[in-house]
Amino acid sequence: MLLDELEVVEGRPASREQIERCHSAAYLDRLETLAVPTLLDLDTVATESSYDAVLLAAGCTLGAVDRGGFALVRPPGHHALTERAMGFCLVNNAAVAARYAQAELGLGRVAIFDWDVHHGNGTQDIFWDDDTVLYVSMHQWPYYPGTGGPGEENETTVNVPLPAGCGDEEYLSAFDERVAPALQAFEPDLLLVSAGFDAHVDDPLAGMRVTAPGFRELGRRCRVLAPRLAAVLEGGYEPRTLPVLVRYALEGLSE
Ligand SMILES: [Zn+2]
Repeated sequence: MLLDELEVVEGRPASREQIERCHSAAYLDRLETLAVPTLLDLDTVATESSYDAVLLAAGCTLGAVDRGGFALVRPPGHHALTERAMGFCLVNNAAVAARYAQAELGLGRVAIFDWDVHHGNGTQDIFWDDDTVLYVSMHQWPYYPGTGGPGEENETTVNVPLPAGCGDEEYLSAFDERVAPALQAFEPDLLLVSAGFDAHVDDPLAGMRVTAPGFRELGRRCRVLAPRLAAVLEGGYEPRTLPVLVRYALEGLSE
């Protein structure tokens, strides 16, 4: 797909039932009934409009699965746990999309590859005991949220912690050595990419040095690893470069 031919489609909200596959009713009730801006976590604020925002963000991610697209959404999702918000994340968009693919599209095996600079502790937690969903994460470690260190894995959870300062070369060789073999062995029907861009060299939050062409190459290497592919935006905190990085990644992820 050429970039100037990209089709932009507005998403529809997910249903409560679709989100409850990953989150408790009590937690969603709390989000739905917030009347004033509320600190749900040390760094996660939600307001009276957040519930509508999370329905839309999750719904866009389901739409991306349907179309083989990239869900450009806020808030992000990969730190969100079943019962609570964390790290700017309220609802785990990638997890809701994985369950949707299984329950409504009949896809058996779903892989989630998370290249956000932070470990996706929420996604890992939701699928820890589920061998139908593979979670693979590359992230800076030790770093927020503290999970995903060496040896923290099981048959369908693969963590690739990387020291601060890694750039394209380290990311691509770690991808080839750890990520690609895990994905190939799992043989997913769908690959969901939790695409954060906070490993970029200019991102203010973390200490990695990935470049725009590096994200394009990561996308390109993901493309061949499953018959169906979709992506969802996670972190990325440099507003001037984020749109450029999304375009580069899209170029790699697209045919
Ligand atoms: Zn992040």
